[in-house]
Amino acid sequence: MEEKTLFEKILAGEIPSEKVYEDDIVYAFKDINPQAPVHTLVIPKTKWRGFPDFENSSSEAIGEYMKGIARVAKELGLEEGGYRVVFNWGDDAQQTVQYVHAHIIGGRQLTWPPG
Ligand code: AMP
Repeated sequence: MEEKTLFEKILAGEIPSEKVYEDDIVYAFKDINPQAPVHTLVIPKTKWRGFPDFENSSSEAIGEYMKGIARVAKELGLEEGGYRVVFNWGDDAQQTVQYVHAHIIGGRQLTWPPG
C-alpha cells in the first residue's frame, strides 16, 4: 500500500495540527510556516494528489471542495478584505505534499506577481 502523505496523517489525527475549521467536506488548519498573518491550508476529505487528478473526478465533488474553501475563508473573516487561494502542483511550483491543498493567504496587502 502507498505510504500516507503528511496531510492524510494530519486528517487521521496521527500528526497534530492547529485546526481552524472542519466539516464533512474539508479540514482546515494553520500552515506551520505562515507567509502572511492568515495562512490556512484547506484539504478535502476526498483524496486527490493534485490538479491532474481532477480531470477524471466528479465535478460535484470538486465543486463541493471549492465551496468548502470559500466557507473557510469566510470563517476566517477574510471575505470583506479579500484573500488569495493558491494551489501548487509539481516541482516547478514547489509542491511538497502530494495531497491536494489550497493555501488561503490573507490579512495583509498581498503583492503580485508571486515569486
Ligand atoms: P506546498 O508547497 O504547496 O506543497 O505546501 C505545503 C505546505 O505545508 C507548506 O506551506 C508548509 O509550510 C506546510 N506544512 C508542512 N508541514 C506542515 C505541518 N505539519 N503542519 C502544517 N503545515 C505544514
